[in-house]
Amino acid sequence: MPRLIDSESLARVMKQRVVRSAERRLLISNISGSAEAEDSYAIVNCRGFGRKRAFRTYRFQGPLDDSIERTRTQRVLCSGYPRENVTYTQVFQLGGCSWRCWYCYVDVALLSGTESRGAWLTSEDLLELYEEEPDRPDIIDLSGGQPDLAPGWPVWMVRALAAKSYGNRIFLRSEDNLSGALLTETLDASDLRILREARYSRIGCFKGFDAESFSFNTKAVPSGFDRQFEVARDIISAGIDFFAYVTLTGPRTEDIAAKVADFMDRLQDVHPLLPLRVVPLKVTPSSTWPQPGSPVAADAGRTEIEALSRWTAEIVRRIPAATRSLPMEEISL
Ligand code: SF4
Repeated sequence: MPRLIDSESLARVMKQRVVRSAERRLLISNISGSAEAEDSYAIVNCRGFGRKRAFRTYRFQGPLDDSIERTRTQRVLCSGYPRENVTYTQVFQLGGCSWRCWYCYVDVALLSGTESRGAWLTSEDLLELYEEEPDRPDIIDLSGGQPDLAPGWPVWMVRALAAKSYGNRIFLRSEDNLSGALLTETLDASDLRILREARYSRIGCFKGFDAESFSFNTKAVPSGFDRQFEVARDIISAGIDFFAYVTLTGPRTEDIAAKVADFMDRLQDVHPLLPLRVVPLKVTPSSTWPQPGSPVAADAGRTEIEALSRWTAEIVRRIPAATRSLPMEEISL
């Protein structure tokens, strides 16, 4: 069996490769010419350093067999954003990640801090590229890779936006694979206040429903599964607006019902209503998959179908319909 990734060690290496904190510069991936750029949903823009993403069909979200759950989750995760049929986000990608999820839609080179596949840019540089675009989304999404390798990035972007005439019309999101340093240990009180007061949402992603499926998905040591709950708890306790996705893929396994129920217990231990802010994804093939239809994908897909069904059953069993019927962002954590 290949050696599992030591998340902390790889994160240290990646930080050195993709973050220059003193200058507030980041290695931002150039997506042009990548396998990722071949995907149907990728509209590469900003001279290759960004992509526009459409939230139109929500096909990437799990096929939930409950009408309230289906309706509730069909919306871009971004507090305060008006409900619209099609929502576009402007995505920028940090060029490193400490994990190697088998289903990742990003090229490995764009996860590895490969300097030749990006450029060192500040948030102000990114906004200049954004301003060149004729049709600009009003949601900016700091993505990756693993954007939380640069904990200061959302704060730098809020400050850069504040200097712009259009800045107060923009909603900001950043993603977080819930593996890194605690936000409250990396940002000071004034930075946290900036994030709380901005139109800012943080989107975590839980990988799997137990330590085994976590390792299967990320190729990282299983302790990272527990870490995800600590990081999520810290973000919520800091008062930051928080949503999450979860991928419920895993190896062929027994007792999926009990494992998903345990996972839901862990989420509810962070906050009783946290499951209502978590959207399960349906992993779909992308251009970066080395072997579409591979045994890994087939096994994971079978597990995912059952786990998705158990996910819905657990939510319906645990939380009254009146609460579940509220829009996601009205679920107060
Ligand atoms: S954490 Fe996200 S960016 Fe990193 S490998 Fe997994 S899916 Fe890709």
